[in-house]
Amino acid sequence: MDDDTATTDRGPARNAVLKQLPQQELARVLARCEEVQLGLKHVVYDEGKAIEHVYFPLTAVFSHVALVDGQVAVEVGTIGPEGFVGLPAFLGTTRSPNAVFSQIEGASLRMSVEALHDVLRGDGALHRALSRYTQAMLLQLAQNVACNTQHTVEERAARWLLMTADRVGSLTFPMTQEFLAQMLGVRRPTVSLTAGVLQTAGLIRYARGVITVVDREGLLDASCDCYLLLREEFERLTQP
Ligand SMILES: [Zn+2]
Repeated sequence: MDDDTATTDRGPARNAVLKQLPQQELARVLARCEEVQLGLKHVVYDEGKAIEHVYFPLTAVFSHVALVDGQVAVEVGTIGPEGFVGLPAFLGTTRSPNAVFSQIEGASLRMSVEALHDVLRGDGALHRALSRYTQAMLLQLAQNVACNTQHTVEERAARWLLMTADRVGSLTFPMTQEFLAQMLGVRRPTVSLTAGVLQTAGLIRYARGVITVVDREGLLDASCDCYLLLREEFERLTQP
C-alpha cells in the first residue's frame, strides 16, 4: 500500500476484499452497506456475544484481542482496509469468539449479517474473496502466536508500527503507549522503554499520543521477519 493512498482514495476500492469483486457483485454488496465512522476503541464485537453486522474497513483499523479475566491480554490480529471484520459470520457462526474494537478511528462499510448471507448465497466472487482472506487471517493468527513467544518486544513493536502504518496508509497516526502495551501484551513501562529505544535510534518520533515513523527502512531492519512474511502473503492472497 502506498503512503499516499489515504488521501487519493477513500472509496470502496480502498478495501482489498471489495476490490476483488466484479462490478455487478460489488454493486449488490454496496446496495446493502452503509458507511459508518467509528471512533477510537469503539467495540464492534463483545466476546461471546451475537454478531449483528460485518465491516469492510476503508480507513478504520480494528484490533481482534484475546481477553483474560475480562481484560485485554494481547492483540491476536489486526484488521484494516486489507480485510474484513466478521469472519465468524462468514464461516456460519452467530457469535464472536473474541472481542473486536477499533484501534484507529475511521470509515468502514457496514452490512447486516442477513445481507451478507443474501449476497453470499450466490456463491460468487465475495465468497471466493472472503475464503482467501480467511486463509490470510489464519496465517496471521499462527504467525502472531509464534512471534509473541519467539521475538523481542522491540522487534514486535517495530512490526506492529509498520503494520499499522500500512493499514492507515500514513506514516503518522494516533497511538497511546497504554494502547501499544495492550496490543503487545506487555506492561506499560516495558513499552515506554521500547518506544524510547526506537526513538533514540531515530526510527520513530512519539509526542502527545501521535506516532510518526521517521525512518521506515530503519524500522524494517528493527522489525522481525514476521512483518514482511505476512505482508507478502496478504498481498498474494488478497489480489483479485
Ligand atoms: Zn515476529
